[in-house]
Amino acid sequence: MRERKSFLRHRRAFLFSVLGATSASAVLPLLLAEEKEDTGSDPYVGRVKTGRRAIVKGAGREVRITKLETMLVRPRWLFLKVHTDAGIVGLGEPILEGRAHTCAAAVKELEPYLIGKDPRAVVHHWQAMYRHAFYRGGPILTSVISGIDMALWDIKGKLLGVPVYELLGGPTRNRVRVYAHASSPEAIRRRAEEGFTAFKTGVFKKRPAKIVETPGFIERAADAFAALREAAGKEADIGIDFHGAISPQTAKLLIKALEPYQPMFVEEPVQCQNVDVMADIARGTHLPIATGERIFTKWGFREILEKRAASILQPDLCHAGGITEVRLIAGMAEAYYAAIAPHNPLGPISLAAGIQLAASIPNFLCQEQVSLGEGYLKKPFKVRGGYIDLPKGPGLGVELDEDAMADKIGHAWENHQTYDEDDGSVVDW
Ligand SMILES: [Mg+2]
Repeated sequence: MRERKSFLRHRRAFLFSVLGATSASAVLPLLLAEEKEDTGSDPYVGRVKTGRRAIVKGAGREVRITKLETMLVRPRWLFLKVHTDAGIVGLGEPILEGRAHTCAAAVKELEPYLIGKDPRAVVHHWQAMYRHAFYRGGPILTSVISGIDMALWDIKGKLLGVPVYELLGGPTRNRVRVYAHASSPEAIRRRAEEGFTAFKTGVFKKRPAKIVETPGFIERAADAFAALREAAGKEADIGIDFHGAISPQTAKLLIKALEPYQPMFVEEPVQCQNVDVMADIARGTHLPIATGERIFTKWGFREILEKRAASILQPDLCHAGGITEVRLIAGMAEAYYAAIAPHNPLGPISLAAGIQLAASIPNFLCQEQVSLGEGYLKKPFKVRGGYIDLPKGPGLGVELDEDAMADKIGHAWENHQTYDEDDGSVVDW
């Protein structure tokens, strides 16, 4: 069977080279009909659509993955290019912060499975990469699958000449709201001038928080947030990220002090490894609780939803399982009236994936970003009135500007190492 398929593939390649794409396309339906009995386990062989657009883009024939290429990109990212024999390249970000080299190695380990496969069976490949690992999940594997998943959707969209959200039944909205980081009144005003209407800050602290904090600590943190609220006004949205670096004991005190200023959400009020504790925090306040950057796949979010530990889910498109998986998580969330606000402190390919997702689900709230792609994309995203217009280009709708990126290749970013200033014990950052 393998030899027969190889012969058929070479026969078609030969005809395309001899006759040229236009003439060969005319006989393609006949070839496909003849090959139909040779479908084997490949759902595309013998069953590909041969519409005019598909042939022009290369989808009217077999398409095979030829190479996976990773690039370390400053400040702390890892970009992926999935090459195909159709000349189309898919982009992704298979990165876990602080583990770029490990992720690049994990991409290499998945490469033998993907080489020679048709990239269009995106969900099939997701299942194979996840389940054939035997030891399922974990942030490294799910981050690498996430980046590959983005790239496969990008290829599929490019082959068919449509944005990914079109393939997922969208658009579900006309534009996508994004938020910016801002931790001072000056930064809020500057970001507002840039076009943002939603912001996120951290907990103001002069030192890492103790397990039980003082009235002075709580008051300073609440006053700092109050100053942001005053600068932004009552019609703006400001989320606050506890970063999982606050104990449950102090989180309860701090949330109560913040309630009068109505943050858009309280993110990671505590670590998420014990979901019951986060659920207890959620029961104690009317403020929306958000979490998700350190939760992976539908199996991780299932417990958050069932225990009602958060009503705003923040899956990271680069960690939780890519577009394929986050779309399923969004469906699960919808049944709990929970919203999706994707986490993204990473690069513009991740942002592009988040925008495609936002345009294909109903329960989207807001998308995080730290880069609109200036210096990385040929056409960086633009924010107007707090929103980004839907991209019209095929796939993820972005193109790398490799000339502009030339001085940003390579990095040695490491996670922060933080300690209690009084006794030297390890604390979260
Ligand atoms: Mg966070």
